[in-house]
Amino acid sequence: MPSISELGEFGLIDRLTKDLKIKNKSTIKAVGDDAAVLDYGKKQMVLTTDLLIEGIHFDLSYTPLKHLGYKSVVVNLSDVCAMNAVPKQITVSIAISNRFTLEAVDELYVGIHAACDRYNVDLVGGDTSSSVTGLLISITAVGEVDKGRAVYRNGAKPNDLICVSGDLGGAFAGLKLLQREKEVYKSNPEMQPELKGYDYILQRQLKPEARLDIIKLFEELKIKPSSMIDISDGLSSEIMHITKQSLCGSRIYDEKLPIAYETEKFAEELLMLPSVFALNGGEDYELLFTLAQDDFKKIEGNPLISVIGYTSKPAEGNCLEGRDGSEVELEAQGWRHQ
Ligand code: ADP
Ligand code: MG
Repeated sequence: MPSISELGEFGLIDRLTKDLKIKNKSTIKAVGDDAAVLDYGKKQMVLTTDLLIEGIHFDLSYTPLKHLGYKSVVVNLSDVCAMNAVPKQITVSIAISNRFTLEAVDELYVGIHAACDRYNVDLVGGDTSSSVTGLLISITAVGEVDKGRAVYRNGAKPNDLICVSGDLGGAFAGLKLLQREKEVYKSNPEMQPELKGYDYILQRQLKPEARLDIIKLFEELKIKPSSMIDISDGLSSEIMHITKQSLCGSRIYDEKLPIAYETEKFAEELLMLPSVFALNGGEDYELLFTLAQDDFKKIEGNPLISVIGYTSKPAEGNCLEGRDGSEVELEAQGWRHQ
């Protein structure tokens, strides 16, 4: 296999974008010109971008490049979904140092293409550059939504139901596990990482998914959430974004937090409370949304959705009720990478 410098910038771009088949009607012109052309007709377009930097957002010592490519796409698609929109196109820009081989960049793109296929999204452009150290990935995603269907952070009303998709804290558990095994490895490189039996939390950390299925479910059930956000920085911090922008308070119940058995088990192994993982751990990429009470019957008993509390008047603040009935004010510890 040639090196990246032998291939040159244009050769590399060709290699990374060859065989692209267009999946969406709205993609008029994809890779190969100065800009992509998209046709959004009467729909509205949502646009979002993210920048990922080696050493800040990801650690290549335990992140396979294929997973990194997949996850870099997914985090952007999750932002599109959080607007109640359907992702359609992405652009991918990378800066690579000479430490990276062509195989490595190929691997990254295997993950990027896999995510595009999984979510029916077209890769329509990007940029390629060199960097002095490390890898940078910037992805921009475009999605479409019917007029009047976009959901913002600021639409919740007091007494709406607060709901989340899936389960929480798993990605943080997976990160803690990988960091622990990295430390073990650093102190004794002979040791093999002990990752058996931890598949679920590892997958939550390394290969998260965007909840496009929930956006489709809303459409089927004729639900429009009053507000929505994706959970990238931990539940507490996201609840506070919604209540701050919607001018309301919130009450959530510890016992209602959806936490997978595997996450609980690992939290206990670290002598930590599983609900701390759920409240303050990042990167679950589940959706947090509020619903008018009238919509309750539409989601009642749905295993994909948990009702964890309700919004209140602003004066009541953001309150977490413990299993013993105690109350604490939610704190947005937020999620700082690394
Ligand atoms: P320009 O000189 O206009 O920036 P480039 O030579 O950088 O054009 O890119 C040529 C085409 O390849 C463009 O359509 C661009 O969007 C696409 N492209 C460049 N880099 C990437 C990449 N890393 N991934 C996907 N598409 C890319
Ligand atoms: Mg360019």
